[in-house]
Amino acid sequence: MIHIYDCNETFLYEIIEDYKEAENNEVKDEIFNSFCSSIWASDNKRRTYMKTIHFKVRKDLLNTELGQVFDTWSGIEYRYYKSMTKDENWCAIIRQKINNIYTKYFDKEVILNKEYMDLLKKPKLIYFDWLSGIEMDADTVTDIIDDTIDKAEKLKQRFQMEKMTLSWNEYKKVVEGFLRRCFDNCKLIEEYEDKTQIVNNYDFITEDNFYVKYINRSLNAYFQNYQKDYYSVKRGHNNKYSRCKRCGGIIEKIGRNTQYCNDCKRIRRLETKRSWWKNNH
Ligand SMILES: [Zn+2]
Repeated sequence: MIHIYDCNETFLYEIIEDYKEAENNEVKDEIFNSFCSSIWASDNKRRTYMKTIHFKVRKDLLNTELGQVFDTWSGIEYRYYKSMTKDENWCAIIRQKINNIYTKYFDKEVILNKEYMDLLKKPKLIYFDWLSGIEMDADTVTDIIDDTIDKAEKLKQRFQMEKMTLSWNEYKKVVEGFLRRCFDNCKLIEEYEDKTQIVNNYDFITEDNFYVKYINRSLNAYFQNYQKDYYSVKRGHNNKYSRCKRCGGIIEKIGRNTQYCNDCKRIRRLETKRSWWKNNH
């Protein structure tokens, strides 16, 4: 029998206690699978949607040449995501964390880095500069905006490259592995000798709150490590990392001149050799 926990009826601490106290692995599997089923069945699905950087060109300016230029850029779209939930049950909150981690590391369509967003907002800012009385002409503004949008597009491609590739279904499997580790590694609250200590460390309101925080923090940490493993870089608190200039992968910053990952270094060397050969024969 598959028993799926009802997130509004069952406390997370009950599930974890049942899991810890289970008499054998089969029972453990059953409890854990049922927990996962309710996470994946949550109504709090991952959602992305289009948002617009919007401004309205004043009516009396709409027929001017500059007014027309700005009107073209008065609704720049970008993809955003649902990043929070109002639901207070453990299931929706953990699911939100799982959704957000996917968006952050794997969704190449959601690019919200400040550098990129600042470029998208620039036409709107120039418009308000114009309104405030700064003189400009249509050709120059067109050039500036074209250039800005071009830069934004290149930057977007760059940030897309810096994301890892993993389908949602594969991701779910990885998440389940990490959740299982959370279940195995977390201590029951009663195992803490000094409970006031936990109260201080985790602004801890209910027992469920404690476990939700434990799981969400652990997922964060697991995916930070997942990312390092993905790019085969060593983990370590003092290690410094940067991005490969060519492929966007994470590299360890050893010297000041580390710019490429090993693969790209090899490719660049070949390319240099090839162009030397072309130029000299
Ligand atoms: Zn590279």
